[in-house]
Amino acid sequence: MSRACKVAVIGAGVSGLVAGRELLREGHQVVVFEKADRVGGTWVYDPRTDSDPVGLDPFRRVVHGSLYASLRTNLPRPLMGFRDYPFPDPSKTPGDRRAFPGPEEVLRFIEAFARDSGVLEVVRFRAEVVRVAMGRRNDEWMVEWQTEAEAEKKKEEFEAVVVCNGHHTEFRRLQVSVGIDRWPGKQVHSHNYRVPEPFRDQIVVIIGMGASACDISKEISKVAKEVHLASRSTDIEAGKLDGHINIWQHSMVDSVHEDGKVDFVDGSSLIADAIIYCTGYKYNFPFLEMDDTVNIDDNRVGPLYKHVFPPRVAPWLSFVGLPYKTIIFRMLELQSKWIAQVLSNKIALPPEEDMITSVNNLYLQMEETGKPKHHTHSLGADKAEYMNYLAAEVGEPPIEEWRFQMYDTLLERIYSHHDDGGYRDEWDVDH
Ligand code: FAD
Repeated sequence: MSRACKVAVIGAGVSGLVAGRELLREGHQVVVFEKADRVGGTWVYDPRTDSDPVGLDPFRRVVHGSLYASLRTNLPRPLMGFRDYPFPDPSKTPGDRRAFPGPEEVLRFIEAFARDSGVLEVVRFRAEVVRVAMGRRNDEWMVEWQTEAEAEKKKEEFEAVVVCNGHHTEFRRLQVSVGIDRWPGKQVHSHNYRVPEPFRDQIVVIIGMGASACDISKEISKVAKEVHLASRSTDIEAGKLDGHINIWQHSMVDSVHEDGKVDFVDGSSLIADAIIYCTGYKYNFPFLEMDDTVNIDDNRVGPLYKHVFPPRVAPWLSFVGLPYKTIIFRMLELQSKWIAQVLSNKIALPPEEDMITSVNNLYLQMEETGKPKHHTHSLGADKAEYMNYLAAEVGEPPIEEWRFQMYDTLLERIYSHHDDGGYRDEWDVDH
């Protein structure tokens, strides 16, 4: 028998909005809580930064967004929309017509989606969720929220909670090196990087291998004297990078010194002015009171059946948007449909024990293949299997193979230090 639930969605970024749309479509009563005064989450460029650029001060002011001023999407338009609400064709947009547009264009798309889907009407803005606690039953959740204007917390009961608070705000700072407390240079995490100007004529060390390290190193190299990339990876070839006049690759930083010297594990060293940490982000659900039902261990959120439902309280608590290295918008849409249809009783989840077995099998398989725990939610080679599982669950055809091929071809260039970022302009979307 069909069921309509009262559901709280936490966050009005892409995840919360698409979750809101699917829940409304299934006839649920929905409230989307959003601490900011607009939708879009990550895609709202915020020129402000945290008050402590490396996150040592526990009382620092934290800004949500991590975008730098020059950012363009690293996926092209066909990989940035939803199944029945695609990203607009360049000929149909008055704004940024590039295949890989800037954040304003993505935000325009998200705002139009929020309006057209009707979700905007159920968003409660400036409402930060500060506590989510389960009641006596699995389908009784107390959500407490607060606005900046009123100190008093408000409470409301819901049957289900969908967590969509994003995971690009709380960052990881590597315990890089001996001597970092006395090192005199500037340090900043990529979360707090906005423009290259502060690094003009400087010698900059960038730690990390991901998409941000690739993009930021190329941008900074245009104004900095030298850029030195440091990475733990054993696959790298140390030395000057082909195609760049002032970028070098090194092994990991080993130690740093009071005179500004930075020593790398491979024995090389230099005097640097700044270190930028492109070391990624951490999942964080400060409002969730959950003891062992779900917890975070070395950036693994678990146990979660298919990265979405904690088996013990499924389907009354769920998470949208944890997996990465995939076609994100389409995955968010499929996860949301699944949650909405499970809540409305259209789809049944396996029994709790079977969900736990499935999670344990994933962990076992990771151990056998040497995949580290902190990569639990990195889909990579498993993305098609995962997304097509969800598509089958919600009765949709599999994602077209060409989209995965497009994604895989791009990935090589996104993570290539040799590419100068020009792939975004050279890319032939039609092909
Ligand atoms: P977010 O966009 O972070 O939204 C979370 C929302 O929850 C925010 O609005 C926040 O204010 C709100 N919130 C948080 N806590 C609370 C609370 N306690 N109470 C109320 N509200 C709360 N993806 C792509 O597909 N293509 C790209 O090219 C791409 N580039 C990226 C570049 C960078 C630098 C980064 C950081 C990410 C990029 N991504 C890209 C991934 C991007 O995160 C996703 O596209 C998408 O924005 C994730 O949406 P989300 O809703 O899960 O999280």
